[in-house]
Amino acid sequence: MTTVAELKQAAITAIETRKDEIKDIAQQVLNNPETGFTEQKTASLVKKHFDALGISYQDSLAITGIKGKVAGGAGPGPAVAVIGELDSLRVLEHPYHDEVTGAAHACGHHCQIGSMIGAMIGLLTPNVIQNLSGSIVPIAVPAEEFIEVERRMNLREEGKVEFMGGKQEFIKLGVFDDVDMAMICHTTSDKFKLGIGGTSNGHVVKFVQYTGRGAHAGGAPHMGINALNAAMIGLSAVNANRETFREQDTVRVHGIMTRGGDAVSAVPSNVTLEWRVRGGNLDAIVNNSSKVDRSFRAGALAVGAKVSITNIAGYMPMRNNKTLQNMFTVNATDVVGKENVLVRPDTHNGGGSTDMGDLAQIMPLIHPYCGGATGTGHGKDYVIQDYEIAVIQPAKAMAMTVIDLLSEQAVKAVEVKTTDKAPMTKDQYLKFQRERNQVTEFDGSKA
Ligand SMILES: [Zn+2]
Ligand SMILES: [Zn+2]
Repeated sequence: MTTVAELKQAAITAIETRKDEIKDIAQQVLNNPETGFTEQKTASLVKKHFDALGISYQDSLAITGIKGKVAGGAGPGPAVAVIGELDSLRVLEHPYHDEVTGAAHACGHHCQIGSMIGAMIGLLTPNVIQNLSGSIVPIAVPAEEFIEVERRMNLREEGKVEFMGGKQEFIKLGVFDDVDMAMICHTTSDKFKLGIGGTSNGHVVKFVQYTGRGAHAGGAPHMGINALNAAMIGLSAVNANRETFREQDTVRVHGIMTRGGDAVSAVPSNVTLEWRVRGGNLDAIVNNSSKVDRSFRAGALAVGAKVSITNIAGYMPMRNNKTLQNMFTVNATDVVGKENVLVRPDTHNGGGSTDMGDLAQIMPLIHPYCGGATGTGHGKDYVIQDYEIAVIQPAKAMAMTVIDLLSEQAVKAVEVKTTDKAPMTKDQYLKFQRERNQVTEFDGSKA
């Protein structure tokens, strides 16, 4: 009989033996950055490694996603997903940006593909997989970064996706229907090696389109309706509401202008914004989202423009399952030492958002962090300096946690599955998110 400790040691040895190859996977993804729902090269790389590892899989899920499945050799039991995200951001000044698309891995998702495959290399060691019950489900998910909203709206129009986040769409497609729990490990430039705990913001996404009337900006400005001025007043009105945002709701309201007019010689008639309202709880998101919509209407009212506000289901606040979290913490401590592990309180909200929060509404999971980066997340200086910390150590800690869950007839996975109190069923989740999707039209000239 092989002990749990021996299984973990076998997995660690396998990862250690092939660590240069695992780091190289992450670096290949770094050098081929692709934004959400366009990750074809990254998906091909994942499939190549799944093929080499003998992992059977489904592909082209939500355009580029991949779902593998490996049955343990010790009988039936729960299914545990190990997830990596395929997509990059767009950061044009980033040292590893794509010259054509501007895509760049300024959030470290390339390391997740490495740590996901690395964990599988450890778990697929013959003596390990034979002693696990249930199954391991390695998943490469598209589109975690909620960007390029207008392009994704087109994908929705074309019927290629309904939701604009990869895990949201995976939930709808039923990709997670036979998955019982999940884990992923995200990079950070915070000064620890492995960390876990805390929560994240949920959000609502907005595509805002101001329509005015073009006219000669010199000869006949009085004949025009200036959509840029409408947007400017709208944004001032948004800012006028900031004093109503409460500290405890960790509200973030921010966005970009994606079109500001077409030619300097004409009164701008078509101005578009991509906007975001984040908060730590669903009430704060809903309330502040309506204030922002009201503000955008104020801009249209002031100059007599039209505004169309498309609200889009964003992400939900994160929830780490405590049993999984404690299990991961013990393994993280074994891998990097107690002094290099950070456990955050439940109340810690980093301010960002992830669609792991969506998945956390319907199943137990963990979203730990690994160090190894320097710079500011999503910034041009966010670069992985240490692939040992960013890829290899999380691969080991995740493999060890899967072994804890699925060894000894998967008794711990059964415990997690039966004791977790998911806030929503899949149907409740889909209903809630579909209710976020609303389009408001407002004509300021008629109000
Ligand atoms: Zn990220
Ligand atoms: Zn990110």
